[in-house]
Amino acid sequence: MGLNSSEKKFKDLSAIAVISLLISVAFCSFLIGVTILNKTQVDKLRMEQQIFERAHRIYEEITRLMYKTEMLSALVIQKNGSTESFYDIAPAMIDDPIIQDVLLAPDGIVTNIYPYYGNEEIIGMNLFDNHGNREAMLAKELGELVLCGPFDLIDGGQALVGRLPVYIKTPEEDNKFWGFVSVTLKFPQVLEHAELEIFDTYGYLYELWRMNPDTDEKYIIASNYGNQKPEKRYIEKQIQILNAEWYLRVFPVRAWYSYPENIALVLAGFCISFLVFFVMQNNYQMKKMQTVFELMAITDPLTGIFNRRHFLDIVRINLEKARRIREDCYFIMFDIDRFKLVNDTYGHQIGDKVLVDVSTRIKAGIRPYDLFARYGGEEFIVFVTGINKQEILEMTERLRLSLFSRKFDYEKISITCTASFGISQFYDYNIDKALEQSDEALYAAKRNGRNCVIFYGENNV
Ligand code: GH3
Ligand code: MG
Ligand code: MG
Repeated sequence: MGLNSSEKKFKDLSAIAVISLLISVAFCSFLIGVTILNKTQVDKLRMEQQIFERAHRIYEEITRLMYKTEMLSALVIQKNGSTESFYDIAPAMIDDPIIQDVLLAPDGIVTNIYPYYGNEEIIGMNLFDNHGNREAMLAKELGELVLCGPFDLIDGGQALVGRLPVYIKTPEEDNKFWGFVSVTLKFPQVLEHAELEIFDTYGYLYELWRMNPDTDEKYIIASNYGNQKPEKRYIEKQIQILNAEWYLRVFPVRAWYSYPENIALVLAGFCISFLVFFVMQNNYQMKKMQTVFELMAITDPLTGIFNRRHFLDIVRINLEKARRIREDCYFIMFDIDRFKLVNDTYGHQIGDKVLVDVSTRIKAGIRPYDLFARYGGEEFIVFVTGINKQEILEMTERLRLSLFSRKFDYEKISITCTASFGISQFYDYNIDKALEQSDEALYAAKRNGRNCVIFYGENNV
């Protein structure tokens, strides 16, 4: 393996770093999701609590004021249908600025109203004919206090009206319908007590609505949005005020991402994820570099095969094993013939290529477990075990031919390259001796005319 390919791999992303990134993104997303969900839930609860509270206040205020009619009713019944002391009692009843007026309407026709001045035109009005006539009928039918409105008043403004039917005892009838007593409340002032503007401070839109009994259409009594279209999601509470069904509907206008703290949370999540990624990636690169340094320490940078030092280290380990099982061991040392000439003729770069290709061809010719190294310059060495003398000779001859029989081609250059081979067999598993002897055999091969194989101890070597 050359250094170049290792360098390329440095740029690769570490799978563990990517997986860590994905896991931390998933983990952060989960945490953020749960946090935001919790917040939304808390928000929803807060909103529900507010709706409940506001709805209750609306109910409380309206019913409290509506029941003022009971006093008028008591007056009429006590006076057996006479309206004479109305103007004595009425001023005391208007103890709240929200009450616009109180009136009496025997048989539905208004006869008395307080305050009188400013309301004169109401005298003589038939309650069965005007706004809230349906409610008037209903009140008479049910015999109960009925809420009407809000509706527009003659003099401008709006009002909520409570009509209570009064029944008196006559000689002919025990429960004769006498007419109505009524209280008119200023609208929208009557809602002030509910403090609906609290929804503005929370950033919610609301509407208070009912079905208009005259038109059977949805009628918005009050809202805090103009033309802004509220979201589809809302929480609603029904407010039953006497006969009327009102609804307080609140829309959560703010999406999760409109909260700066949620955005900060998401950003923090991403930062943590990327930090994890960078730490892991850095770690991975360090490990890679460590591997490359380790490899550099044991391999020859040009050919990628073992260097001499590491080769001898491994041979020593293998020799121990071979000694135990009494295996035959050999060194094959070879040196490229007239390599200087290659360099001088074609240049150093071509020389380098030849060295790489020679090592490739030799590697292809030996067994995977034979140890092969660059011994120095253009000199190589192979450590072989477990074969006999005849076999090592045949093997080396094959290696020699693998170089000699085929030219080395580089674009326009074609080079015949041979090598001289010296073989030594180990005696007493002594490395130094075997090295010395293979070296001697190699030089004998050189003397012998090169491109040949010499076995130490033969041919007078
Ligand atoms: P012979 O071995 O057949 O006696 O002749 P030779 O020309 O091969 O012998 P010599 O030892 O004089 O020359 C070896 C040459 O190998 C000299 C040196 O420049 C060259 N050499 C050693 N290492 C490298 C290398 O890494 N790359 C290249 N291109 N040349 C190298
Ligand atoms: Mg040499
Ligand atoms: Mg040489």
